[in-house]
Amino acid sequence: MIGAVDIGGTKIAVGLVDDDGRVLSRAQCPTDAEHGYREALARTENMLRAMVTAAGIKLTGIGIGSTGPVDPFTGEFGEVNFFPNWRGENPVADLTRIFGVNVAMENDADAAALAEAGWGAGKDKKRLIYITVGTGIGGGIILDGQLYRGVEGAHPELGHCVIDAAGPLCDCGFHGCWESLAAGPAMVSWLKSTMPDDYPHRADLTAKRICELAKEGDKLALQAVEREGRYLGLGLANLVTLFAPDSIVLGGSVMKSAILFLEEIRRTICRCCRFVPYEKTEIARASLGEDANLIGAARVWHHRFAGEGGHSA
Ligand SMILES: [Zn+2]
Repeated sequence: MIGAVDIGGTKIAVGLVDDDGRVLSRAQCPTDAEHGYREALARTENMLRAMVTAAGIKLTGIGIGSTGPVDPFTGEFGEVNFFPNWRGENPVADLTRIFGVNVAMENDADAAALAEAGWGAGKDKKRLIYITVGTGIGGGIILDGQLYRGVEGAHPELGHCVIDAAGPLCDCGFHGCWESLAAGPAMVSWLKSTMPDDYPHRADLTAKRICELAKEGDKLALQAVEREGRYLGLGLANLVTLFAPDSIVLGGSVMKSAILFLEEIRRTICRCCRFVPYEKTEIARASLGEDANLIGAARVWHHRFAGEGGHSA
């Protein structure tokens, strides 16, 4: 039984996950970053301890998926946007000391990629790319069951490849990177920049709301959805051309409405990827549902320590 810890910008979730990737119990608390790392660690410890006691089990290990950047080898937080003051803190070392078991941590997109490859939509695919589209775009690459890492364990930033060099400036330094054109907020800002003064849905526009409006047949929302599908398709077409993977698995909040975008995505890939066998790349929706992050965190432990196509780093 693996203790799973999912550390996000707004909440920390913990759970118990069995060897088949089933979540047997779960709990969460706000991240509350401003009250400091030590307090957040104590809350995490208490939630996990209560869960282990209630279930009457012994933990085999703990896996962590965290919003990045994190160092998967040292276990330290880098300069994470949501909790910059936690830089250099080490939840891997701390939870190892507290619980006396092996602990491993990965970036949350890599954790989700491992989960989809091990227990989800990408099961048994040798070359799998997982993409999450929400307030940003992130991803993880699995090759032959192993997580692809950059130099010194760096996590590649798939959401920041350039789609339109004349596009909007992003914090990464590029103009027109994929995230700046196709993440949820890009949909909202495009619609806001286009809508007439008398557009009836001006208030509370979100990516989710735009998708709902498109389903109701709102013309402008339908245009926003078409534009989103095109930009999602361009980014995915780049990945298909670069990697010719067996499968690309799509997750994240915007992809809950994947049905609206898939046709345009497939059309774009078909138009742009003629030099690789693009029709062999399966475009699949993430399959692990609301528990995906906890399942991903548990899978991080398996990948590192359980020898299921993984090995100790
Ligand atoms: Zn960028």
